[in-house]
Amino acid sequence: MGRRPKLGQHFLRDRAVLARIAKAAVESGDTALEIGPGQGALTKHLVRRANRVIALEVDPALAAALRRAYGATPNLRIVRGDVLQADLAGLVAPVRRSGAVLVGNLPYYITSPILRAAFAAGDAFRRATFLMQREVAERAVACGGKRFGLLSCLCQLHSEPRLLFRVPSRAFSPPPAVESALVRFELRSGCPPTGLLAFLRACLASPRKTLRNNLAGRYPAGLVAMHASAGKRAQQIGLDGLVRMWESLERAERSGAPAVGACRQ
Ligand code: SAM
Repeated sequence: MGRRPKLGQHFLRDRAVLARIAKAAVESGDTALEIGPGQGALTKHLVRRANRVIALEVDPALAAALRRAYGATPNLRIVRGDVLQADLAGLVAPVRRSGAVLVGNLPYYITSPILRAAFAAGDAFRRATFLMQREVAERAVACGGKRFGLLSCLCQLHSEPRLLFRVPSRAFSPPPAVESALVRFELRSGCPPTGLLAFLRACLASPRKTLRNNLAGRYPAGLVAMHASAGKRAQQIGLDGLVRMWESLERAERSGAPAVGACRQ
């Protein structure tokens, strides 16, 4: 069966790594939705640990081969489909959120859209555990510094992410050009306020600019400039600092009062 590199098909071969991923991702009563089972290397470990596994694979040839090899496994359902089109919550219904998890050695070319889909499904899943490019993993968990950006904010608003361990390229066949890392996201339900997301986007629009410059035009003149963090960059105050700044600016704007010193870092 031909490999399709465009679909991010780097298959994990290291059994110790596969066992560690399965252990970190699922508990015994869980229903696990696996994204991109490929040839079933991780699936094999998941079906041993989880109550039920639903494996969602876009490549029809791989999905058919999986059915031939594992079709008789009683707690495994193989679904042919695109993770970005699928109704993730619908696939695990009627399982309760406390018993539903997402897991996958992700196709790296769509890591960000998959993360967004996982966050959008936070009311249906309690956890997502994903193997991804190491650099993206470091951005997901960054609290400040050069890796901190919009992806860090999204990941930390929608979940509590934790980088668990790194995986070298030699654990895969064929080896990807980049190192990988496993991140576990303990998902939050509900959505952050839309206004906050727009504010964060503006704060991070030009990461080298100060917040005063990035926010110019969004609030009345002087309001941002009087704020304790106005002269700093977003990556210097991190998500908590940005959320506090947004709350204080919104409060000040609503009440007409200045936001002076409301957010000393
Ligand atoms: N889980 C296997 C492993 O660890 O060996 C394969 C992982 S491989 C990095 C990524 C898998 O995701 C491939 O099987 C690929 O065909 C599949 N894939 C790529 N795009 C997808 C999509 N949009 N929806 C679902 N699966 C996808």
